[in-house]
Amino acid sequence: MGQPIYFDYAATTPVRPEAREALLRALDGFGNPSSRYGFGREAALRVKADRETVAAALGCAPGEVIFTSCGTEGDNWALRRGAERNRRRGRHIVTTAIEHAAVLETCKDLEGEGWEITRLKPDRGGRITPEQVRAALRPDTALVSMMLVNNETGAVLPVADCVKAVKAYDPAILFHCDGVQGFLKVPGPLARLGADLVAVSGHKLGAPKGIGALYVKKGVRLRPLLTGGGQEDGLRSGTEATAQIAAFAAAVEAAGRDQTRLERTAAIKGYTLEQLKKAVPRVEVISAGDAPHICAISLPGYKSEVVVRVLGDRGICVSSGSACHRGKPSHVFATMGLPKPWLDGAVRLSFSPESTRAEADALVSALKDAADTLFTTLS
Ligand code: PLP
Repeated sequence: MGQPIYFDYAATTPVRPEAREALLRALDGFGNPSSRYGFGREAALRVKADRETVAAALGCAPGEVIFTSCGTEGDNWALRRGAERNRRRGRHIVTTAIEHAAVLETCKDLEGEGWEITRLKPDRGGRITPEQVRAALRPDTALVSMMLVNNETGAVLPVADCVKAVKAYDPAILFHCDGVQGFLKVPGPLARLGADLVAVSGHKLGAPKGIGALYVKKGVRLRPLLTGGGQEDGLRSGTEATAQIAAFAAAVEAAGRDQTRLERTAAIKGYTLEQLKKAVPRVEVISAGDAPHICAISLPGYKSEVVVRVLGDRGICVSSGSACHRGKPSHVFATMGLPKPWLDGAVRLSFSPESTRAEADALVSALKDAADTLFTTLS
């Protein structure tokens, strides 16, 4: 089989050439940034420059960027240490029912430790409103956690307005935003959302897996999750992953230089949905996605795992929901109140600015064949 036709960019992305080059260069200059001799100092200077690059893209000061191993680590750190920091206020956390497992499972863990969690339910379009957030706040609320872009529907949540509502209620409540699917995928630097904490991840934008960052607003002091040698200004111990950090910064810089990436991504998604509706009339669009790179469709009554497998046999990669579900039905689609046949047949498509019409045509033709040849549970 030739190169796969990839429509699963929300799961992960190929490493960009700029990131690969930066990674290899940094592997050669292998010094430890904490070492005092020249070779180590060079590595430290590189990490400093890379932090400045990521900070510029986030719209914040370099000192507000802490490198992590992934988005999951950032979410865990923000929730666990953020909640702990505000424990004296009370033990109540507000989040949404459509968060990624990195947030939901951490909240479940905190629930086991005596925290009370309010999980806001979305409407049929996968949306949450600032009014819902405002109504859930209580005098004992310590923290609010809300994602920017849902990884299964592509819905953009009104984080900036929710931050305003929360801070108007009480500025002491910490606001964490899972920005993993939003970083450089929606217009505007994420620090401008006004949240206290924002988690991002490199492998969603052309860096290798194993690198992310947590934006920690100036003045918000979190206890570290990892203790040890005191790297990252004492906030995240562990020798800096210099090569991954270099690749992350290179990927961020390259994405920033590509000024038409969002328009191109939205255009190819729009083309795909249009062709799909023409070729497969029974396809339903669960969410066209506000973010340019993600949408969700359904072949009602079909089994999405079977559709995904049949497409995979033709070298076409799509997902039956988030890649983290491992075959379990999507909690996001379920909580949106979709009819069961829609849930059964739900497929997530996700795009890059480099996705082509030829690839989209191959996807549409494979989905048409699947709809024509597979049995539904409805027939
Ligand atoms: N949050 C969201 C919305 C995601 O989509 C993902 C990954 O799919 C994560 C968090 C976890 O990020 P990572 O894979 O870097 O741990």
